Amino acid sequence: MIYLDNNATTKPFPEVVETMTRFMTSRFWNASSAYGQVDGLEGTVESAKAAIRKLSGVGSEDEVIFTSGATESNVWAVTEGARKAAGGGWVLSSQIEHPSVRETLEHFREQGLCVRWASVTREGALDLDELKGLVDPDLRFVSLMLAHNETGIIQPVSEATALIRERSPECLIHTDATQVLGKMPISFSDDLDEVDLISLSGHKFHGPKGIGGLIVRNGVLIEPLIRGGGQQNDLRSGTMNTPAIAGIGAAANKCWELLRERQPEAVRAVRDHFEERISSVFPGALILGRLAPRLPNTSFFGIPGTDADDLVLALAAKGIAVSKGSACSAQSIEPSRTAAQMGYSYEEASSLIRFSASCETTFEEVNLLADELQGLCRHAGIAKRSE
Ligand code: PMP
Repeated sequence: MIYLDNNATTKPFPEVVETMTRFMTSRFWNASSAYGQVDGLEGTVESAKAAIRKLSGVGSEDEVIFTSGATESNVWAVTEGARKAAGGGWVLSSQIEHPSVRETLEHFREQGLCVRWASVTREGALDLDELKGLVDPDLRFVSLMLAHNETGIIQPVSEATALIRERSPECLIHTDATQVLGKMPISFSDDLDEVDLISLSGHKFHGPKGIGGLIVRNGVLIEPLIRGGGQQNDLRSGTMNTPAIAGIGAAANKCWELLRERQPEAVRAVRDHFEERISSVFPGALILGRLAPRLPNTSFFGIPGTDADDLVLALAAKGIAVSKGSACSAQSIEPSRTAAQMGYSYEEASSLIRFSASCETTFEEVNLLADELQGLCRHAGIAKRSE
């Protein structure tokens, strides 16, 4: 299988698998036990937190709480936001958030919470002008993703938080950074310092599935998500998943090294090469957010007159894995919601395919994808019309 769907999930690095195997065999202890402590398991947990802090550029005082993944982290953040907004406040999010944010907010809205949804521009970025008109002192919670999982478009979260802090200084600010960590250098200590809560997920950066985190910035107080034995500072009880924690730590360390070796530039070159080929073979091809700041690995493109469902299936039959968009909505027959929010028609949105590279993706692989697409479309009589 030529795997080109790395925004859905990534292959764990070999060092992640080795590390996890060790913590599932010779060091399977409960991290809270006396012998686990003697064996240094607390140190393993702390090292994994340090690796995540380094990868996200937060400070050593900022707390990393391990969760089962970004869905759980997002639900936790939004639940806290709904609590803060109870009794006269309101919350703000965008039209393009991940379903774990959108559906949770929708659930609270049905129970009476006031939620407003900011729209995005044709370029797929949060509409800051609209946001300016919306924010007022009663705004208590904001959830805005940092980069979009389908388009890869980087959202102006820093500009948004500056605006929000000015008008509502006490507002709790959350960002879903799931698609950013490991793909490009980032520092929450610089212009994203006003963000209070950050969601992340291990399997998006070559770590294991079922482990993620919520970074709670220094001084930010939130209610526990799971009460029980008091693990993780009483905030999220339950025996710590040490194999996965050690695994996510190993992945974060490896990603940090790759980022320092300028791996994003190499990935960007492969992605840009693919887009050049697609637009030369199909001059009418859509490439969403091509000129916008984007994740270096992502291309959300469409060949007019085609149906993404058919092409994605035909490519899978040829051993190439790409997707129609978000894996979370791959079962849905509706085309990308985000493309619709950006103003694309139903037909245009129905043609969109997401290609997402990793540090292992080669020029040969993307050439093969472009060749296969050309072949499939020629077969269907589409390339002839575009050529
Ligand atoms: N947020 C974004 C932006 C994502 O892309 C995903 C994964 N599709 C999630 C949250 C959910 O992550 P997880 O699979 O770790 O629950």
